[in-house]
Amino acid sequence: MKFGTKSIHIGNEPDATTGAVITPIFQTSTYAQEEPGKHKGYEYSRTHNPTRTALQTTLAALENAKYALCFASGMATEDTVIKLLKPGDEVICTNDLYGGSFRLFTKVFAKFGIKFHFIPLQEIDLVHIVLSTHTKMFWIETPTNPLLNIIDIQSIVEIAKKLNIITVVDNTFASPFLQNPLDLGADIVVHSATKYLAGHSDVVMGCLMTNDDELYQQLAFLQNSCGAVPSPFDCFLVQRGLKTLHLRMAQHCKNASAIANFLNNHSKIEKVYYPGLESHTNHDIAQKQMRDFGGMVSFTLKNDSIASAFNFMKNAKLFTIAESLGGVESLVGHPATMTHASIPREDRLKGGLKDTLIRLSVGIEDTEDLLESIEYALSKV
Ligand SMILES: *Cc1c(COP(=O)(O)O)cnc(C)c1O
Repeated sequence: MKFGTKSIHIGNEPDATTGAVITPIFQTSTYAQEEPGKHKGYEYSRTHNPTRTALQTTLAALENAKYALCFASGMATEDTVIKLLKPGDEVICTNDLYGGSFRLFTKVFAKFGIKFHFIPLQEIDLVHIVLSTHTKMFWIETPTNPLLNIIDIQSIVEIAKKLNIITVVDNTFASPFLQNPLDLGADIVVHSATKYLAGHSDVVMGCLMTNDDELYQQLAFLQNSCGAVPSPFDCFLVQRGLKTLHLRMAQHCKNASAIANFLNNHSKIEKVYYPGLESHTNHDIAQKQMRDFGGMVSFTLKNDSIASAFNFMKNAKLFTIAESLGGVESLVGHPATMTHASIPREDRLKGGLKDTLIRLSVGIEDTEDLLESIEYALSKV
């Protein structure tokens, strides 16, 4: 079965008691038992809820996984995954990691004795500098945020498998429509479902997928023990969003590619970051592991000042200035003062994140309107 059919049919059975075509929002905390211990698989909604079960079934299918688990946010998902580790364990991560993940690792888990190494994993040879017998996990994001670096999932997996290291891929930017890390050998995929999966900027949720029975048992235990589960209503919203994921992603990619090419040929632009451009450093790896190149585009201006970046943003009227990404509407962000403001300027610059770097989450509006909006904004820079 192909992607679009799976997103509409798997986990979307008519309700057994009423025939309702759409899974009801089972807004209940507890379930009647015929006699103690005799029930229909549901006891308490932190552990299981039928609306969540339906969503998890769909999500697993979309990542070609045996299992999926949903959480109250992307961060709650990551929190649960790191709890697989114990003091003394070490994690090797991408250096240009999502800011919230960086904060969780360095400000929350570091004090519990887990050590995190941040390195540019697109330069795979650097892994060996920090690799040790304590390394228990690789944490990859690809494409990365906001520089859209591409990391070769298969070559990380190759190192990991030999050393019994768990590979986790944050697949938020690509979505399962463009990239399936489990098929490339990764052990766990995590998503901020807040972004493309839900797709309408109206819900915060996270999820993970795995094929590994043992990891699933541990993660389900942690999900139930720590309890950061999503509400039935949010599960309903995400499942509704998933039914158009394939259509939305196709338009996100079409628009982003048109914008990246337009910017790439514009005299006021210094550099465009988009894995679909042939000039992108790891374009060949993106081509190998992704089906298309996604809806995120970053770029810098030749006129290198924060004021000119702000001028662009204020005049790109169809792009709302906001954090987040992956919704149907286009957004524009300024990482240096918004998502990545907590990273000291010197470190930001070292990582290649300039003051005029602008990040677009390209929506699914009509291509011509978006291009016109960008052309006008550039005329004001
Ligand atoms: C947004 C995001 C997260 C965090 O997810 P929330 O749903 O906001 O908690 C994690 N990783 C990436 C790549 C993200 O974009």
